[in-house]
Amino acid sequence: AKYVYDFTEGNRNLKDLLGGKGANLAEMTNLGLPVPPGFTITTEACRHYLAEGALPEGLDREVEEHLRALEESMGKRLGQADDPLLVSVRSGAKFSMPGMMETVLNIGLNDESVHGLAKQAGGNDRFAWDSYRRLIQMFGKTVLGIDGDLFEDALDALKDGRQDTDLDAGELQRLVESYKGIVRDQTGDDFPADAREQMRMAVMAVFDSWNAPRAILYRRQERIPADLGTAVNICSMVFGNCGGDSGTGVAFTRDPGSGRQGIYGDYLQNAQGEDVVAGIRNTIPLQELERLDKRSYDELLSIMETLENHYRDLCDIEFTIERGKLWMLQTRVGKRTAGAAFRIATQLVDQGLITMDEAVTRVTGDQLARLMFPRFDAGADKRRIAKGMNASPGAAVGKAVFSSERAAELAAQGEDVILVRRETNPDDLSGMIAARGILTSRGGKTSHAAVVARGMGKTCVCGAEELDVDTAGRTFSAPGGVVVNEGDVISIDGTSGEIFLGEVPVVASAVVEYFEGAEPEDDLVKAVDRIMRHADGARRLGVRANADNPEDAARAVRFGAEGIGLCRTEHMFLGDRRQLVEDLVLAAGAEERQAALDALEPLQKSDFVGIFQAMGDRPVTIRLIDPPLHEFLPDIVGLSVKVATGEATDKDRALLAAVKRLHEQNPMLGLRGVRLGLVIPGLFAMQVRAIAQAAKEVPGARPEIMIPLIAAVQELECVREEAAAILAEVGVDALIGTMVETPRAALTAGQVAEAAEFFSFGTNDLTQMAWGFSRDDVEASFFSRYLELGIFGVSPFETLDREGVGRLVAIATEEGRATRPDLKIGICGEHGGDPDSVHFCHDTGLDYVSCSPFRIPVARLEAGRAAL
Ligand code: ADP
Ligand code: MG
Ligand code: MG
Repeated sequence: AKYVYDFTEGNRNLKDLLGGKGANLAEMTNLGLPVPPGFTITTEACRHYLAEGALPEGLDREVEEHLRALEESMGKRLGQADDPLLVSVRSGAKFSMPGMMETVLNIGLNDESVHGLAKQAGGNDRFAWDSYRRLIQMFGKTVLGIDGDLFEDALDALKDGRQDTDLDAGELQRLVESYKGIVRDQTGDDFPADAREQMRMAVMAVFDSWNAPRAILYRRQERIPADLGTAVNICSMVFGNCGGDSGTGVAFTRDPGSGRQGIYGDYLQNAQGEDVVAGIRNTIPLQELERLDKRSYDELLSIMETLENHYRDLCDIEFTIERGKLWMLQTRVGKRTAGAAFRIATQLVDQGLITMDEAVTRVTGDQLARLMFPRFDAGADKRRIAKGMNASPGAAVGKAVFSSERAAELAAQGEDVILVRRETNPDDLSGMIAARGILTSRGGKTSHAAVVARGMGKTCVCGAEELDVDTAGRTFSAPGGVVVNEGDVISIDGTSGEIFLGEVPVVASAVVEYFEGAEPEDDLVKAVDRIMRHADGARRLGVRANADNPEDAARAVRFGAEGIGLCRTEHMFLGDRRQLVEDLVLAAGAEERQAALDALEPLQKSDFVGIFQAMGDRPVTIRLIDPPLHEFLPDIVGLSVKVATGEATDKDRALLAAVKRLHEQNPMLGLRGVRLGLVIPGLFAMQVRAIAQAAKEVPGARPEIMIPLIAAVQELECVREEAAAILAEVGVDALIGTMVETPRAALTAGQVAEAAEFFSFGTNDLTQMAWGFSRDDVEASFFSRYLELGIFGVSPFETLDREGVGRLVAIATEEGRATRPDLKIGICGEHGGDPDSVHFCHDTGLDYVSCSPFRIPVARLEAGRAAL
């Protein structure tokens, strides 16, 4: 295998092999942009290394060949004493994982070559020693695993309140000595002086960083597969830390927060690498670079335009200026907020860069769901205490906490928290996940907090410099003597950047109002409108709603539902009607039973009338009663206590006997669904009659009667016969079909379809029975362990398990249609509104998905994306 690619050999389509960073460095190189030369070691080499614990054979030789070629073209050798070539060793996986993995700069420096570097830089000793101390610091932390604070503390002590740029050559040289001491103390060995040895160790450290705990956590959160591995980029160094005419920066080709075109970025003079995002000094807005170095600035703008037109999308970039010469160090299609994604997609259409089809694929259902989040009520009384940068939109309210541990702890107790930090770093990830929102007092829109929060869709206000955050003291203060301690409630607005004391009430989003029927006014809603229309035109899948009352049904229609895919009837037996059900179940004879049924029927009928009216001529699938019997019976414990304490009436005693008789050890596998209908005579007949009568009363009504939980076609046949007779008697047409939610029903679908005019996959129960997981218990008991172990990346109750449950769905679809080619097939579990599951339903040839009313826009969009 070929394990190493020169930057001139790769291109952006090779992300699997070269990682995102490597593929895009190659792409920029081939576009003729100023990229420092270098090469990439493939993810395949990483996978081999992680699996075997050793570098693949031949890799060393191949790296050496490429390094030789690099040395030749640069006219210097790695670590050469009088004129060293230096390189960076940079991680870069297929999917960007900001700050998760490692990069080491200035490889090739040692006690000799540091002098050579100074000499070549025109006697700039300060720069050379600064580069050397950075190497030992990064190498020590990343490659040798030394606690980074040891280096930080030594640096802080030396700075003694000054900035890092105030340190002179002599001081930095002394710092190098103390850093070397730290390495010796911590590892028992000297810092490795051999440049090739440094490089080799750094490569392995980058490979290892793939499995660092925070990287594992990030991948799980972002649903990035665990087995991809990272590539390693070896890139010749350019230096932003040579003085005032040098620096380093990051930029976006448009605002990743709003999508608006313009110049967005941060720049830091006389700095290297992570300095910009780490917040060690305050950055300046990119616009000010024009004043400092107009030539580089103009070149940068023109490169950004080239990149946008080439990638036809928002790009983010990292660049460095070395003594007035601009170098590009990274680019990629940039992360953005949900609102920006919709705006940018339609802007690019208007610029003629992409088609509407592409625009639809550029946004996701998750992003749309985020736009449906509520925001703060503009009219509410608010006490604003400060304003920061609007880094990631949304409205978050919660108790202020100052550490990741505390955030996770309180969140586990069900509290809403806002994580407040001076700045965040990758170790704060678990706290950021646990928090409702994130607030920092330092760092810009490209800071760690901002980038990660946007990725997660979490509300974030960053760089609120008016705040004085005391993490150790668990408190912050704001202008005007405001003090907020841990546990005090604050509200943060990630759209405006404002911070409020106390709880601010939230209101619905403009996007929801649009779905409710408001005319699109602002440009975001207009963009959503265009994309939704196009997605609707493209999709093949129908979208229905799970709704069981007229209000939900009406909302579902406004949100675009083409019918009801699941109308549950069990809630219609609760509340006041409970007594009637109890009478029904405990009836002593046919007469008592009939009396209870007669009382229930008109109530049921009026329920259905309301729903049919809301749905007009759209189909309404009504599921006959499903839940376990015990849910309708009085509590066994309460009754037993009554009897034991002698407070019971005769009726109570009879009731207790009946409840005991009907008590089940495992109700979810007990007397429920079709079984209940077969055991209690007249129950299903009453429901069917109520449906038929209601349909007769509402012109255009299209009922579909769905029998739950069958496992054998015989069960269905029994019910079907009776139901068909009632429909004929009332004179109403309705399809009769079944839920497919037991594995046996799925596996015998060919037979089941003989008695069913439609199938609807009840994937909640199907998942429960296919895995043998009780869906009411597992989330609390062992799922977190399973997720930790990577047994699955996401709960199968959230995203349909394609290999197992999905196979049952595919088999049932195929065999059902073989029996009955016009069999209508849908899905009505929670999965109907989950993006990945919607794609599965499209691929498997289902006719529609059904989901809760609020998820309908998401399902419509994803169904459109699946078709494109
Ligand atoms: P990350 O994936 O965390 O962004 P990078 O590999 O991009 O890590 O490295 C971080 C930063 O280090 C870059 O943005 C750049 O500023 C600096 N850097 C990396 N390689 C070089 C290089 N060859 N010359 C100068 N700076 C570099
Ligand atoms: Mg980078
Ligand atoms: Mg079910």
